[in-house]
Amino acid sequence: MPDHLSEILRCPKCSKHGKGRLAKTENGDLQCKETDCLSLYPVSDGMPVMLTDAGDFLGFRRKILAARPAGIS
Ligand SMILES: [Zn+2]
Repeated sequence: MPDHLSEILRCPKCSKHGKGRLAKTENGDLQCKETDCLSLYPVSDGMPVMLTDAGDFLGFRRKILAARPAGIS
């Protein structure tokens, strides 16, 4: 994911208050810098998943990937 994207993106939980700047974590995910939030947003295949319930989304995506016929990537 390009660095400038993490500068533009804001935490959906905090952005309405003009806050919610994000920082890249060591493993490339994004984390809200607000100390009372610190929400973590995974980056999947270079795409930040900016959902407040990203865990369910990723679980759903893995099920779809697992269900694809062999040989299709
Ligand atoms: Zn936040």
